[in-house]
Amino acid sequence: MSVSFFRTACFFLLPVRGDVMICRILSAVALLLVCFHPHPFVGAQEQPLPGSQPDLRALEQDPANPWHPRMDSPRLLTPEWVGDQTTQAVIVLAIDDMRDPAKYEAWLRPVLNRLKQIDGRAGVSIMTNDVRPDDPQLQSWLGEGLSIECHSADHPCPLLQGGDFAKAKSTYDRCIDRMAEIPGNRPVAFRTPCCDSLNTVSPRFFAEIFSGTTAAGRYLQIDSSVFMFFTSRDPELTKDRVLDAQGAERFLKYMPKGNRFGGNLQQHFVNYVDNYPYPWVINGTCWQIPCLAPSDWSAQHLQGVHNPVTLDDWKAAIDLTVAKRGVFSLVFHPHGWIKPEQVVELIEHAVSTHGPRVKFLNFREVSERLNNAYCGGRTLREQAPAFLEQHRSSVKAQRVLTALPEQDQQVLTAVLQSPQRFGLPPVRRPDGTHNGFFVHDQHLCWQNEETSTLPDLLVRVPIETVLQQGRRSVAAQQEPLIPVGAAVVDVTPDYPVRLTGYGNRLTEASTAAVRIHARALAVGAADDLQSLLLTVDNCGVPLELTESVYQRIAAQVKIPRERFAISATHSHSAPWLRGFAPNIFAEVPADHGARLAQYEVELADKLVQVALSAVQQQVPATLHLGYGEAGFAMNRRALKDGRWSGFGEVPDGPVDKRVPLLAARDASGKLVALLVNYACHCTTETGEFNQISGDWAGFAADMLEAEYSGAVALVAIGCGADANPSPRGTHEQARQHGRTLADEVKRILTADGQMRRISARITAQLSRIDLPLGRIPTREELQQEAADKGVTGSRARYFLGLLESGKPIPSSVPDYPVQTWCFG
Ligand SMILES: [Zn+2]
Ligand SMILES: [Zn+2]
Repeated sequence: MSVSFFRTACFFLLPVRGDVMICRILSAVALLLVCFHPHPFVGAQEQPLPGSQPDLRALEQDPANPWHPRMDSPRLLTPEWVGDQTTQAVIVLAIDDMRDPAKYEAWLRPVLNRLKQIDGRAGVSIMTNDVRPDDPQLQSWLGEGLSIECHSADHPCPLLQGGDFAKAKSTYDRCIDRMAEIPGNRPVAFRTPCCDSLNTVSPRFFAEIFSGTTAAGRYLQIDSSVFMFFTSRDPELTKDRVLDAQGAERFLKYMPKGNRFGGNLQQHFVNYVDNYPYPWVINGTCWQIPCLAPSDWSAQHLQGVHNPVTLDDWKAAIDLTVAKRGVFSLVFHPHGWIKPEQVVELIEHAVSTHGPRVKFLNFREVSERLNNAYCGGRTLREQAPAFLEQHRSSVKAQRVLTALPEQDQQVLTAVLQSPQRFGLPPVRRPDGTHNGFFVHDQHLCWQNEETSTLPDLLVRVPIETVLQQGRRSVAAQQEPLIPVGAAVVDVTPDYPVRLTGYGNRLTEASTAAVRIHARALAVGAADDLQSLLLTVDNCGVPLELTESVYQRIAAQVKIPRERFAISATHSHSAPWLRGFAPNIFAEVPADHGARLAQYEVELADKLVQVALSAVQQQVPATLHLGYGEAGFAMNRRALKDGRWSGFGEVPDGPVDKRVPLLAARDASGKLVALLVNYACHCTTETGEFNQISGDWAGFAADMLEAEYSGAVALVAIGCGADANPSPRGTHEQARQHGRTLADEVKRILTADGQMRRISARITAQLSRIDLPLGRIPTREELQQEAADKGVTGSRARYFLGLLESGKPIPSSVPDYPVQTWCFG
């Protein structure tokens, strides 16, 4: 659902069409998306926050960026550091995921035996999660020349996740200390779990974890988590090796794409460099030994297990690495993706083609040789190598930000000084630590423990989009004030009424636990392009009702249809408007129906009334935008093998915790209206609760209006179909969530540097689509379901009723409105 610049800066409003609306549809289609175009410009009246001034050049030269080298960066050629003049290339065979040495011994034995035929040693590294340090197999391996290295104690993917930085450090540290307990073993190297398939590698890791020490004072010296692709872009590479027989790129085909992970699609893999098979230094503390692309995982993902093409490509990679006088580590597993015989054949190829020009070393040997060559036999952090400054300052090739025109650099600097105004994370955290910011492929990116539920595990924003908005925003600061008005009306019925949202409620609600409301916001002059947004405490407003209310308003106020929208807060404890999800209740007693009809008429009148009232109350005003965050949304779509398996709490599932906030202020600065969005269902109150309530959205609006006297607070629920409030179950919890949101709005409004003025020009679009539905049950299936006492039976009886009256069950939702409003 990425129709806005910042995926998550959308208001999700809820028009409903026809008679087959179900909640699941909400997650399938962007309904009304109100998007805020961020304006990366800091106006004179809105000074940047004091503190760090992002220097674009410093960001480009960030030493913690693990993807720093480009093809023409300075190189540490293998003969320079390996200690003999014959060796042109070093290969580290580094197998992953060990917990059970017996399995690894069985799998590796042919490989180790073949290596020993070369020079009596078996130079292999085992990236280990956990072992018993006294396992005798380990001593036997160490004697043969293997090294036991680190892969994190718990193998979390991604390493940084769940907002829990300490957990990531802990699993990293515990693994180091464990491997150091093995007598005679001194771990030096780390590999990030899942680095071959997902964006699990972050500059934040190198700055804040790798560069530290364990509680026992231990640290590692090598990371081998960055992938290296050979491509034909490198003129030094022979075409027959870097291209396949058909003339296509031999290695780029393995670029990970299309992986499903935690309900999100991974489409943009950033964890790689190209044509740079050399060691480099990260953050002054870490040797990076790049991994050859593909790993055995990505090879089998593309072309199946044990594929001979994989082996051919690995052989070509060895030839290219010799030609480049480079190094790589081969990432493989004993998981059935590649056979030990194939790794033996690879060694065979290296020996027979290149003889002593290729050396197989383990990571410990690599670290010793690098340290001897460049650090006087000490570690990187003990003695910085002489080349470091030269490497660091040779950033010609990776100039992206500082290659922009001067004016754009100013815009970008302004954005990054107060990124929270644009819904972006900070470059540095408030505590001064690295926040995982980097630039990749003309995008600003962040990878940290807060981004683990996002697509690609990243915040990823095109630089050009930021700049476009920034250029436009300059004019916004000079705009005249525009008319803005807002109004609120109580829409609580004073008679019993059926609620909807849960199929188990078959009796009327006779009390209101709290009053419910409709609210309206009118922006712009009537002779220009006026926009009118209504929010209403309700589960869903049928399109027929929306259209009739629009016609009545448009008869009195000039307003284009695409500039009119009704947003239901999707409270599951509000009166049922019968065109919405009619299949939830197949049978409704006549007296219930009569009172529902009365409510529908009264609500329509009140919606017209509140809209006209908002227009009448317009005063000259300015619009301001800011972002905050609230934590009570919890993903509710439990997946099994990538498929929906029911409702549940999914802590690592995708949710959008951001709170975009629009504020309108009059000429004196007084608040006229607030529009706040949070992507979460209004389902704190469950089906056991049969009283009228606006749930958390109603509470938040009421609290904000109490706080800011005279202002109207509209609340929308964002792209919230996949999220439930957590915890949930009681009216009191709904009040608490409302309090949480209201407090966050208050914080955004009052803290320095959180809001910025935006253009009052709203771009509105409306189109209608045929929304196809899933498979329609057969008559037989419906007849079987019809006896069910719950919502399944009700739905079946409703559809059977359609069939019996000669109507087909619709296979799509016709004329489904998709509406976008972009502010600024
Ligand atoms: Zn729902
Ligand atoms: Zn692994």
